[in-house]
Amino acid sequence: MMGRDRDAFFYMEVASIFGWDRPHCTWSGALAMRIAIDAGHGPDTPGKRTPDGAMREYAFNAAVADAVCSMLDVDTVRVDDPTCDVPLVARVAMAHQAQATCYMSIHANAVGTTWNDAQGIETFVSPSAPEGGQALVLARAVQKHLVAVTKRRDRGVKRGDLYVLRHTRMPSCLVECGFMTHRDEAALLQSDAYRHQCARAIVLALKEVYGVNTTTNTPQWAIDARAWAMAQGLTDGSDPKGTVTREQMWAMLQRFAKMQERKDG
Ligand SMILES: [Zn+2]
Repeated sequence: MMGRDRDAFFYMEVASIFGWDRPHCTWSGALAMRIAIDAGHGPDTPGKRTPDGAMREYAFNAAVADAVCSMLDVDTVRVDDPTCDVPLVARVAMAHQAQATCYMSIHANAVGTTWNDAQGIETFVSPSAPEGGQALVLARAVQKHLVAVTKRRDRGVKRGDLYVLRHTRMPSCLVECGFMTHRDEAALLQSDAYRHQCARAIVLALKEVYGVNTTTNTPQWAIDARAWAMAQGLTDGSDPKGTVTREQMWAMLQRFAKMQERKDG
């Protein structure tokens, strides 16, 4: 196993040892805003594609998840993996381990495996989500913004007996951004413009419910620099507005120097 796949199993182990996956456990540490983003399924999950095979669901889910993360100026934790279909138990354990404030699972819908008329946007919460609770507030905000931004049919907020909704301790919702089995929506789901619209709607909802900062007020040079530093492995990109200690600066300079040594040598 590679990368995040291996980490997922590690987190699963750790989560069960420390009891983070159990509902009675509470964590007393200071909680920073951190949003778990779940691009549903994986690149090779069977089924989960348009009837003509032109698009796999994960391609849409991951593109929207990437865009959401790039628009948010708060910590995010991705619980999916571009190389595999992370088990649902591991996704939930990673969100708990990261002490995420909320859990957002991003999907595209389907009915059957052939083209049909089912269409529109719907958002799910756990069957046990309390009325007036944060999960429903979040789900209604996501649904409202998605319908407003995309102008697709409003199928409403529903309760769904879905693993990641039932087992997350933080408020969670799962959004279905359109039907892969509807010809018009399948075309939209494959377009960068529609993917960007969906991401923007999800970010607007997070902003409305949690007051999160978005990168809209961040200058482009700062966005570029953060992306570069993350790509180089100098930083994980967390807490972009936080103050840097001298120790952290030294560590980053040291990483940079080691990178240069590797390039030169
Ligand atoms: Zn899905």
